[in-house]
Amino acid sequence: MMRTAIESDRSKRPLALQLPHGPLQLPIFLPDATQGVVRGLDAGDLQRTGVEAVQMNVFHLMQKPGSSAIKALGGLHHAFGWPHPIVTDSGGFQVYSLIHQNPRYGSLTERGMLFHPEGATRRFLLTPEKSIQLQMEYGADIVICLDDCTDVDQSPATQQESVARTVKWARRCKAEFESRWALRAKQGRDQRPAPGPRPLLFAVVQGGGDRDLRQRCAAELMSIGFDGFGLGGWPLDSKGHLLQDIIAYTRELIPAQFPMHALGVGQPANIVTCARMGYNLFDSTMPTRDARHGRLLTLNEAPASSALTGDWYSYTYIQDSKYIRMDRPISAHCDCLCCRNYSLAYLHHLYRVSDSLFYRLATMHNLRFMMQLVARLRELLA
Ligand SMILES: [Zn+2]
Repeated sequence: MMRTAIESDRSKRPLALQLPHGPLQLPIFLPDATQGVVRGLDAGDLQRTGVEAVQMNVFHLMQKPGSSAIKALGGLHHAFGWPHPIVTDSGGFQVYSLIHQNPRYGSLTERGMLFHPEGATRRFLLTPEKSIQLQMEYGADIVICLDDCTDVDQSPATQQESVARTVKWARRCKAEFESRWALRAKQGRDQRPAPGPRPLLFAVVQGGGDRDLRQRCAAELMSIGFDGFGLGGWPLDSKGHLLQDIIAYTRELIPAQFPMHALGVGQPANIVTCARMGYNLFDSTMPTRDARHGRLLTLNEAPASSALTGDWYSYTYIQDSKYIRMDRPISAHCDCLCCRNYSLAYLHHLYRVSDSLFYRLATMHNLRFMMQLVARLRELLA
């Protein structure tokens, strides 16, 4: 499509993206700041762990604090004090989850997604155009097209409908994106000039476990033209295993030079597997949610020399009373604020007394683990 700012190596693997709020080295893991915050951490904490970009979500932000509030505050970067790149998710996956959980929470039509979350005082309509407008008004660096998400266990008819709708919506998203950007470029001389490069637009490849449908979806999206692509659909089977075959196949359908976001893939071993398939961006709530529940990612070997295979990491469950007198950090191989200063015994104590310091230290530790993982992946894949 439009000229993009994607740097590649000789094998055409994308190495970096030039975005309005700075460059993004690949591969990258993006913590989910779903509600505009990585719970318990501020921007300084995130930067101390090496976080380079975060992912936020239209579905949640349009409810709280609300789109008009974000707009009045000058967009996400200013409103939430994060000066680096932000990827926004279109909201498609969250509406799918909501409706899947209970159809009375919403419905899906050709026009868009109508939803009424429990506790909300009004209904919300998310159309492809609206999703793009919001993401662009929010100042996102990577904008993602609204898609019709499925999981692999849904019927062939549902998968077909999802692909047809996802392609139609992607076409509408691109038209909206281009007209909005053209308008902004025209207004570039006013009080809010467009900052540097334009945001990138990604479309999402659906099709469940059906290779033909994935192929059709990828081909149609490629013919419309996007800067990058996302892996659509829930990436795990009903037993929680990564759907490796279809995920690898889907990556092969998109030429290597286009960045591809493995949406929702966050388990460390799954990230390694998908990065080796050629996926470049990852996001998940898992490391931060796990941290708050006392499930701490633990490096068993020095990341600088790890091949990231075998037992290179494990989990530390901090609630275990065996840590009550353990005077060593979570991992001798971790250089985070927590591991450099505090023992397992102290963390165990903070967890037991439910102090907010536990959430902060544990979250910084798990995110530092993810940042060390992607740093090592960049070396191994170079
Ligand atoms: Zn640590």
